[in-house]
Amino acid sequence: PKYQSVALIVGVTGIVGNSLAEILPLSDTPGGPWKVYGLARRPRPQWNADHPIEYIQCDISDPDETLAKLSNVQDVTHLFYVTWANRSTESENCEINGKMFKNVLDAVIPNSPNLQHVSLQTGRKHYLGPFELYGEVAHDPPFHEDLPRLDAPNFYYTLEDILFKSVEQKEGLTWSIHRPGTIFGFSPYSMMNIVGALCVYATICKHEGVPFKFPGTKEAWDHYSDVSDADLIAEQHIWAAVEPYAKNEAFNISNGDVFKWKHFWKVLAEQFEVENGGFDEGGEKMRMVEMMKDKGEVWDEIVREKGLLGTKLEEVAQWWFVDMILGSECMLDTMNKSKEHGFLGFRNSKSSLISWIDKMKGYKIVA
Ligand code: NDP
Repeated sequence: PKYQSVALIVGVTGIVGNSLAEILPLSDTPGGPWKVYGLARRPRPQWNADHPIEYIQCDISDPDETLAKLSNVQDVTHLFYVTWANRSTESENCEINGKMFKNVLDAVIPNSPNLQHVSLQTGRKHYLGPFELYGEVAHDPPFHEDLPRLDAPNFYYTLEDILFKSVEQKEGLTWSIHRPGTIFGFSPYSMMNIVGALCVYATICKHEGVPFKFPGTKEAWDHYSDVSDADLIAEQHIWAAVEPYAKNEAFNISNGDVFKWKHFWKVLAEQFEVENGGFDEGGEKMRMVEMMKDKGEVWDEIVREKGLLGTKLEEVAQWWFVDMILGSECMLDTMNKSKEHGFLGFRNSKSSLISWIDKMKGYKIVA
């Protein structure tokens, strides 16, 4: 056959989906040559269209549509599940996310006889607990993969349980689970993109001629943080898809270094040539959700003036997420298990930040 492996990326326009779509088709990618299908709900955006993949437009929360769109896709060998849905409570999250994942598995497992591996992305909330219990139930960091589940509802646990049950349906079908922390990557369609949101914030500050102030807490400003580069996460997914020793295991995935937001704030300010407003020790607590709630028209004006790709502010920046990430101390994980199993990938987080900013500018999302 022309292809060694056939991928289906569910969530192909997301922050990791877009990286997988870029990396999998490359000629030197392990397990290749790869044929790649990529699925998401909205029509294919321009910034995703350079990747040589077959795009499938489908809403996986609809079981009939999922079955209809995926039943003639019969050659999938590897499924990469990099999507989710965000509802207001964790019990709703468990229900909708479980349904979506099941809809995909129920369509792919019976129709693709050569399916070998399912790679599921969850995240560090496995150890932190759901958003609604943030800071209340977390394990003591650094987090390692063998920690027991928390006694709290968590859609990641729902997804894992569906995965474990589904792979039993097919002899030899293997799985892997990938748990990133905050992701640095590129996707104007992501539901959580910290670099994207901060680029938009810096662009607005510059346009308005005001200092670029750190909206978070002293803990987030001063203490160590870590992040997970989207390309690195994609590399770990692909590694686990092809490496026998990685099968049927869960892995943390983070860059392997630490940084402080006070240092990265300077980098962001420099990249956007905006005055660094820093952290105001005595100042009132800032909330991005409040600060940005009336900026939609300002953003439209910036888009027009600078000739940017037409985006809506609420689409390119998730202020609740910035408030959350910069609102408390980052809890770190450990990469020991991943390294011990043979994945030695890492990123320099500062270079990672700059490269994603460059990509945001390159695709004219920000200026
Ligand atoms: P994103 O929000 O970046 O992307 C989601 C993708 O799925 C998009 O392509 C989106 O496109 C698509 N999608 C959403 N809903 C549907 C649907 N109903 N049917 C079909 N496609 C859909 O995803 P992430 O990579 O952020 O999330 C994957 C996992 O990673 C989640 O469990 C998340 O919690 C976890 N995680 C994320 C972090 C982050 O910083 N982003 C940090 C740590 C963990 P469209 O909207 O057009 O459908």
